[in-house]
Amino acid sequence: MPPLDADTLLMVIAVFDAVACVVWLLLGEALRIAPRAARLIAAHHGLLALSWWPALPASLEIPVSLPLSVVASGLLTAGIRGLMRVRYTLNDIVAIVVVALVAAALSYPHLAAARVVDNVAGAVLVLMAARDIAIGAGFGLVLTSAVLLPYAVLGGVCLWRAADLLGWLPPAMSLAGMTDNAPLALLRLVVNLTIATGLVALVLQRLIARVRHLTRRDALTGLLNRRALEELLARLQAQVDRGRRHALLVLDVDHFKRINDELGHAGGDAALQHLATVIGDTLRDTDAFGRLGGEEFAVLLPDTDLAGAMLVAERLRRLLQERPLDWDDKTWPLSASFGVAMMRREDLQGRGALARADAAMYAAKARGRNRVLRCPDDAEFA
Ligand code: GH3
Ligand code: MG
Ligand code: MG
Repeated sequence: MPPLDADTLLMVIAVFDAVACVVWLLLGEALRIAPRAARLIAAHHGLLALSWWPALPASLEIPVSLPLSVVASGLLTAGIRGLMRVRYTLNDIVAIVVVALVAAALSYPHLAAARVVDNVAGAVLVLMAARDIAIGAGFGLVLTSAVLLPYAVLGGVCLWRAADLLGWLPPAMSLAGMTDNAPLALLRLVVNLTIATGLVALVLQRLIARVRHLTRRDALTGLLNRRALEELLARLQAQVDRGRRHALLVLDVDHFKRINDELGHAGGDAALQHLATVIGDTLRDTDAFGRLGGEEFAVLLPDTDLAGAMLVAERLRRLLQERPLDWDDKTWPLSASFGVAMMRREDLQGRGALARADAAMYAAKARGRNRVLRCPDDAEFA
């Protein structure tokens, strides 16, 4: 096989970047996957494709190739920040790109100085992207390291090249640029391929997280839905079987039909959202709050005994009573009936506790509503 020359490799990289540009545009615009981030990453690949090939004459490197490469690096870092949903602004990225562009322009016509600026800016931006991935990816250590490796390689090579251009390295460590250095161009191709693969993994992870969220959340209130609550109950049941004590509350809004009748269905929906906020705000992070269906909700209280669960239920009952619904210039009182049950060893996947808490809640309704009752069989936990 004839050795690959740098020009051919640069052309391959350019073709790859052009294809990646189209793929990200399709992901963002047609499939609506992270559209803003996808647009930035598509622009990154598009600019890189332009800056790689056809290889421009050296006279155009400062006015054309280097600015394209700096802006492309900034776009990738910004796109990754969007993809990772890390909540900072893009001001730092814009500032680095602007400073690099000005510095490269001021270094005209000294090509080596402009290349130093390009490489340092590229290294800083790529390391910032790596930091955002490390913070935001949500992968395990091994996978995060694998995704970050090409960024570390790219940042390292940029700094190496900058040090070389500044004359800081001995001749044996000198590193020619990609247009004269086929192995370096090959390394860049591999880095581009691995960065692109890692980005696809990050997008997939985001999609999976979104689907998981949708299948576990109630659309109206954003609380856990029945399926998620049942999954959690089954998980907690395994802990109860090993001796931990968990409690469960079920609550049902009193006379909810009247709210719907008086305020309309939208008012009823607002009442459910109001209840979700009022109760959700007061629970511990470890508690799990969800909507079982209609106007019936459940709270899982891990590591809570019966007395503690009764106190929580009473606190929630009072809070709800004290915080009426404001809707359409009317104030509508809200109350709910609560049933409390302890999870037991003999239960199957926590379903017994749900049934006992539900029965206690109905007993509270029968006793006149707006009250808390515990499961009568739970005397042994008292
Ligand atoms: P009780 O005090 O005995 O619990 O009486 P209630 O009126 O609250 O109970 P009932 O079960 O008779 O009525 C519940 C109503 O909740 C019936 C149903 O139309 C309404 N509902 C169920 N889901 C929703 C919803 O998502 N939004 C709205 N607005 N209403 C809902
Ligand atoms: Mg009700
Ligand atoms: Mg009901």
